[in-house]
Amino acid sequence: MTPDAFRRHGHAMVDWVASYMERVEGLPVYPQVAPGAIRALLPHEPPVEGEPWEVIAADLDRVVLPGVVGWQSPDWFAFFPANVSGPSILGELASAGLGQQGMLWATSPACTELEAHVLDWLVGMLGLPEAFRSDGAGGGVLHDSASSAALTALVAARSRAAVSDGELVAYVSTQTHSSVEKDARVAGIPHLRLIDVDATFAMRVDLLEVQVAADRAAGLVPFFVAASVGTTSSLAVDPVRALGELCARERLWLHVDAAMAGVAAICPELRGLNDGVELADSYSTNPHKWLLTNFDCTLFYVRDRQALVDALSIVPEYLRNAASAAGSVIDYRDWQVPLGRRFRALKLWFVIRHYGVAGLQAFIRHGVALAAELVTWVAADARFVLVAPPRLGLVCVRHLDGDEATLRIVEAVNASGRAALTQTRLAGHATIRISIGQTHTERRHVAALWAQILSLA
Ligand SMILES: *Cc1c(COP(=O)(O)O)cnc(C)c1O
Repeated sequence: MTPDAFRRHGHAMVDWVASYMERVEGLPVYPQVAPGAIRALLPHEPPVEGEPWEVIAADLDRVVLPGVVGWQSPDWFAFFPANVSGPSILGELASAGLGQQGMLWATSPACTELEAHVLDWLVGMLGLPEAFRSDGAGGGVLHDSASSAALTALVAARSRAAVSDGELVAYVSTQTHSSVEKDARVAGIPHLRLIDVDATFAMRVDLLEVQVAADRAAGLVPFFVAASVGTTSSLAVDPVRALGELCARERLWLHVDAAMAGVAAICPELRGLNDGVELADSYSTNPHKWLLTNFDCTLFYVRDRQALVDALSIVPEYLRNAASAAGSVIDYRDWQVPLGRRFRALKLWFVIRHYGVAGLQAFIRHGVALAAELVTWVAADARFVLVAPPRLGLVCVRHLDGDEATLRIVEAVNASGRAALTQTRLAGHATIRISIGQTHTERRHVAALWAQILSLA
């Protein structure tokens, strides 16, 4: 494709994406497609000769749209807000066009330095500890996911523990995201303890302390604790400060997973979320959930970047270069599992500059205010109760008639195509998670959802 043809087709593709943004509200949030329906629209064999671009582009409407889920619909209240925004999409486009591989500073100084700089900005923007800034011993990096961030933290912690793998014990709570359990499996950590939670679904430090002591008495080596700031089921916040004090006493690596909730700390009045984070060895949060930035974009910070390099750096001949040898640059390949890395910082840089800190704060406050109003509507209806303390943009409710009545509502809403919800289980009860924070959700969308839920009650 010549640059001139790319220009023409690219303009048309931007038009198509813009019109999707305009159309998405009217499309079914969950399309009714049978398994195999999309594949049935595709030819059995790939084309031998190239096809005209117009034919290819038209298949976005014919083949793809019927199987697209309304993650970008303002009526999206399922899972988590998977924010997309204009400046972020344009950042993805620029990144794709530049095609950088930022594994070393030398393979893309712009990719490395923009990333380090934007991540330092975010330390201040989110009120995170200064120790996470890259001008000291720490630093931040962009990962594809919170799952990868926690895996990297686990591997660095194991390296620091410097004992044989067979004895290692990691700790999470019963509410910790399943990704940390998967990470422990991938890393070959033999023992993972699930610590019970209190009435607010936060990890019980007293039980953790007892378990660590029992494991030491059994000759095992406790080495890693993952705390959640915002669990997936209810956005519960573990007592990070108390956990950090315990981890300091016991010399355990503390990783804080704030994937969904952490970005809310951009609002000074919500900075309580960061309480105790200065005691953590590592921390992650996802602008690709709730800060207007396309997937994938996870912020991963460490207080001691040498721990990552010690665990992950291997230098074959073909990666040797003067800048790395001089030790004067960051080589992000040592801060992650893959070697190759794309220019993720561009979209984040565009988002921060387009909205400004004040614009991003206003966006978070808008979602929090909508959720607070929904809580008042829940309180006003005798058929529903809150199952967990509402936090930020997440409201967890159940029908008083029980699990069947509760799950029936989730199924009916999702089947209607008008909105999307997710169910979970909290304290033994089937629960409706109403997650507010999609880029274009307004009060009228939340009101329509609640009216629909009441009509099904
Ligand atoms: C969403 C979420 C994850 C997983 O995030 P990925 O970036 O998809 O790996 C992990 N932990 C928490 C608390 C989450 O909310």
